[in-house]
Amino acid sequence: MKSHYRVIVIGGGVVGASVLYHLTKKGWTDVALLERLELTAGSTWHAAGGMHTVNGDPNVAKLQQYSINLYKEIEAISGQSVGLHMTEGLMLAATKPRWEWLKNVHSKGRYMGMQLELVSLDEAARLLPIMDKTQFVGAMYDPIQGHVDPNGTTHAFAGSARKAGAEVFTHTRVLDTKPRADGGWDVVTDKGTIVAEHVVNCGGLWAREVGRWVGLELPILAMEHQYLITEDMPEVIDFNAKAGMMMLHVVDFDGEIYMRQERNGMLLGTYERHGVPWSPKETPWEFGPTLLPDALDRMADNLEVGFRHFPAFQRAGIRKIVNGPFTFAPDGNPIVGPIAGQKNYWVACGVMAGFSQGGGVGLALSNWMADGDPGFDVWAMDVARYGDWATRSYTRAKVVENYGRRFRVRFPNEELPAGRPLRTTPMYQRWLDKGAVMGDSWGLEAPLWFAPPGVKDEFSFHRSTDFPHVKAECAAVRDAVGISDTSSFAKYEIAGPGAEAWLSRVFANRTPRTGRMTLSPMLNERGKLIGDFTVAKASDERFFVFGTGAAEKYHMRWFRQHLQADGGVTVTALGLGLVGLMIAGPRARDVLARLTDDDVSAKAFRFLDFRPQMEIGLVNAAVGRISFTGDLGYEIWVKPEHHVALFDAIWAAGEEFGIRPFGSRALMSLSREKGFGTWTREFRPIYGPFEAGLGRFVDLAKGDFIGRAAAVAEKQAGPARQRVGFVVDADDADAIGDEAVWKDGKVVGWITSGGYCHHAGCSYASGYVPSETLAGGTDGAKWEIEILGERRTARLQIDPLFDPTGAKARA
Ligand SMILES: Cc1cc2nc3c(=O)[nH]c(=O)nc-3n(C[C@H](O)[C@H](O)[C@H](O)COP(=O)(O)OP(=O)(O)OC[C@H]3O[C@@H](n4cnc5c(N)ncnc54)[C@H](O)[C@@H]3O)c2cc1C
Repeated sequence: MKSHYRVIVIGGGVVGASVLYHLTKKGWTDVALLERLELTAGSTWHAAGGMHTVNGDPNVAKLQQYSINLYKEIEAISGQSVGLHMTEGLMLAATKPRWEWLKNVHSKGRYMGMQLELVSLDEAARLLPIMDKTQFVGAMYDPIQGHVDPNGTTHAFAGSARKAGAEVFTHTRVLDTKPRADGGWDVVTDKGTIVAEHVVNCGGLWAREVGRWVGLELPILAMEHQYLITEDMPEVIDFNAKAGMMMLHVVDFDGEIYMRQERNGMLLGTYERHGVPWSPKETPWEFGPTLLPDALDRMADNLEVGFRHFPAFQRAGIRKIVNGPFTFAPDGNPIVGPIAGQKNYWVACGVMAGFSQGGGVGLALSNWMADGDPGFDVWAMDVARYGDWATRSYTRAKVVENYGRRFRVRFPNEELPAGRPLRTTPMYQRWLDKGAVMGDSWGLEAPLWFAPPGVKDEFSFHRSTDFPHVKAECAAVRDAVGISDTSSFAKYEIAGPGAEAWLSRVFANRTPRTGRMTLSPMLNERGKLIGDFTVAKASDERFFVFGTGAAEKYHMRWFRQHLQADGGVTVTALGLGLVGLMIAGPRARDVLARLTDDDVSAKAFRFLDFRPQMEIGLVNAAVGRISFTGDLGYEIWVKPEHHVALFDAIWAAGEEFGIRPFGSRALMSLSREKGFGTWTREFRPIYGPFEAGLGRFVDLAKGDFIGRAAAVAEKQAGPARQRVGFVVDADDADAIGDEAVWKDGKVVGWITSGGYCHHAGCSYASGYVPSETLAGGTDGAKWEIEILGERRTARLQIDPLFDPTGAKARA
């Protein structure tokens, strides 16, 4: 072992081994992996090794595709078999909602180039004779499913890395990691201290403990997980003989069961509804490759359904039960990336499907380390998606909930209850008193819509109980005035003599004049969108920046990365230290005028004006004339202690104008009519600003800024694809996002978000299509959006449905 390495990877599970291999692929060969016991000694060794490409997030699904394609490569390089069995797979639905969900997945798979196929139940039963087809309503076939040998796979990654120069040390336990003054790390092991430029925490079951050495409380928790292996089953032997192939990999969502062939029998695993966390506070270091005591009774409910769905199991004996722990993040996706404030410290943990995702995680992280950018959209697994609010108890509540729902349908209008309420604004009770149905906005309770007594959300892929009430909220805004909470936005204060220069370098648009606001995208070096913001100039050396609440930590990491020690600028995330309300609609100005003696006339307080200090009612506020509704509107920002007083004043002044509260569902409906997009849907790091329709907010003339060269190239070449809107001939279900876009009978693009436009009175969807498909303008072509398995006629909608000239917002 050398005294110095460029990278030390802590942990030799499938994830650490994959990270090591991918670093060597990037040309980083001065790298070593340290494993306290043998490779696979965490959760990897007893995994069922199953793998598939389906994931709720299309970007994670792509990484899963990548991981699976990698297996032949590492086998060839290392000479180590991964025990690959591409058995193909079936996903089964026993209920209508699950069938609808499968149809959505199928539509999503089309634009991702996946070869998923909806098959008849007869065909499903032919492929899987052990199923009782009368128990199901639909099935989807996936040719890219199967399983690998966990041990062989991990050794194949490690062996391939070794061939490229990496070193692997087993029986070497890391005891501590200490930052060095030169920006590197002292990695203290039981065999001495090693200096490393970078440290990667791939500690799996111990990732929390490893993280705690640097003050991190990673939001992950291990759950006990069980599968059983049957004795030989005649039905399996018979199928193998007749079909000349292994039994298919199976996911029976409604039974909450997955299955695959193991020798001449079957392996059947379950995600129990009442899952049990393992070592919730600390993972014992002495825990080795041992199994946990089995608890077959916890599987009883699932097995009962399994026996009904697959009667052959009733006759099968059980050969072995495996109960082992593995880790999950609150949303079930991996936790990957650099840690803000810890130079050259990286994590890749919380990987609950190491054999579907391990390869993609290694690829993303190695790109990030070598190129400063993961190379594609990894928001769904970025460690920065969780703020400090994701405590151990919160993580536990959410992980247990997520585990129990692993195979359950999550409806687009469904909010999950665990770990709530966690963060609330002072307005919380007031909103509830007005009938608010609350949603979870990354830990913060935020009104979704306002329900009359006795009415609640019915969860569905179709329009639901909220429909007429959201419509009424939209009408209040468009016809009179509405009030809503803006506290869930991220707010930053940028101050100091270097503030203006810093903003000009980090954001793509010019900085506004004092008292004005600009809309500004933020680009990475590759010229891709990593955020969209409103920048307001309060004074020469003080700015406020407003952005997406969920991305606060993600953006702060970027901001910090681009701060220079002597740059004369401070960036502060204000969090809930600044809260807000929005009033919007044609009477919004009348309401504001009742509350202040400032001149708020159209001439004195123009669209995109910003006043850092105004007395509104009893309180001091900062007010910007802007509204995501696309209507005349104001965002009013106050300290939290004034939130309620501000609301009471606005409400009292607004009553004569018919003021009404509106929630985020109405806001999205209204903004959709304007063709606005949002971060994580329309704006993501896979799109350039010109593709996304934000080109007019990129000021190429202002001088250099991050991503400028790439933005110039995008503009010169013309965007390869473009964000467009569609009016959809929908029935009672609207697009929600990730549906396929068809043109003249071919899939050409995808939907990023959709829904009903209550004021315009139509179903609308926004998405991306290749620029060449737009050559014919809006005429002639047959556009369709696939919703719940049905292709719905759609019309290209170039102009906003509401106020296309922007006259109302500027009135
Ligand atoms: C019963 C069961 C069935 C499963 N089935 C599947 C499946 O079918 N498909 C699938 O994709 N996934 C499955 N999984 C999940 C899969 O096992 C995990 O996704 C995967 O193992 C995670 O790998 P990892 O490398 O992140 O963590 P781990 O395997 O836990 O590896 C972490 C490693 O780090 C080492 N380590 C930790 N701290 C230190 C330190 N300080 N110094 C040195 N070394 C250290 C540990 O010894 C360990 O070897 C299953 C898991 C279980 C338990």
